[in-house]
Amino acid sequence: MMSANAYETQDFIMNTNVEQRIISDYASEIYSAAVKELHRLENAMSFYREASEVSLLNRNVGGEPVKLSKEMMFVLEQAKHYSRLSENAFNIMLSPLIQLWRKAGEDNKVPSNDDVERTLTLCSDDNLLLDIDKDTAYLTKKGSMIDLGGIGKGYAADICCDIYKAMGAASAFINLGGNVKAIGNRADGSPWTIGIQHPDRPRGNCYCAIMCSDVSVVTSGGYERYQEIDGVKYHHILDGVTGYPSATDLKSVTVISHSSTQADALSTAAFVMGLVKGTDLIYESGCVGAIFFTASNEIYMTKRIRQYLKLLERFACYEV
Ligand code: AMP
Ligand code: MG
Repeated sequence: MMSANAYETQDFIMNTNVEQRIISDYASEIYSAAVKELHRLENAMSFYREASEVSLLNRNVGGEPVKLSKEMMFVLEQAKHYSRLSENAFNIMLSPLIQLWRKAGEDNKVPSNDDVERTLTLCSDDNLLLDIDKDTAYLTKKGSMIDLGGIGKGYAADICCDIYKAMGAASAFINLGGNVKAIGNRADGSPWTIGIQHPDRPRGNCYCAIMCSDVSVVTSGGYERYQEIDGVKYHHILDGVTGYPSATDLKSVTVISHSSTQADALSTAAFVMGLVKGTDLIYESGCVGAIFFTASNEIYMTKRIRQYLKLLERFACYEV
């Protein structure tokens, strides 16, 4: 906590570190409201909580369509939208595959091609049917499951910023495990900034910073979370075509958007798609733009990025 009207807090919610900075005479009340909302979202969207809407849907696989909240229907619709836009590079149905790779890590044994192929048949986006009029969702194929790990934190960041605004904060910042969104400017009038991690350097070493007042900034990278199986590193973002961790030509991709839900989905998708197709996706989506850090250590950015960028060191940065 800083002063009576400027709060800085750290929590662990939704299985991730949550950092909030709120500048308002009512900062403590606003903070409490945001935390309450984050716990509510965790209870609704967690894959591991039995009472969550996600678990309710996953348990009813092959049974009856499940009545869900309008909010969950919105997130599922958004997920489907970004699946379509990214030709399934973004796919919330990869959960069986995520579990297969998690188990592989525990057993220290790479899954067989047969296991991967069999698991992939459960991961088609067609196995999830939504009825928007009735607010129901239906998983058609036994063994299919959804997982909102690639979009849920972005949605939560959007909700928290809505709360900040609704409760009158002119200025606030949230970092939900790398999903950043900010409103207004800092107390001294300068823009909120977020450093972008250099993929090859120890945590905290950034290669650039992004001014994020009134936008969301979300990074997906292979360096973020990975496991070693038999001495080989396997990262946590999967390719729904091959069934293996994405063999992308990127080390990381950072997306800037007014919607953190959008930035979250697009960063995961663009990472899987790689530089060329990822660039097309970013332009097609209508988001502000993206920065790509490639496997050969080149940096590319889309056209509207420059005004948000603060370079921390000299490097070549190409426009795409
Ligand atoms: P992110 O860190 O937002 O890029 O999301 C990665 C998380 O989303 C992973 O830890 C998985 O839970 C899930 N995930 C992995 N691969 C994909 C994918 N291709 N599409 C959607 N979600 C994914
Ligand atoms: Mg994501």
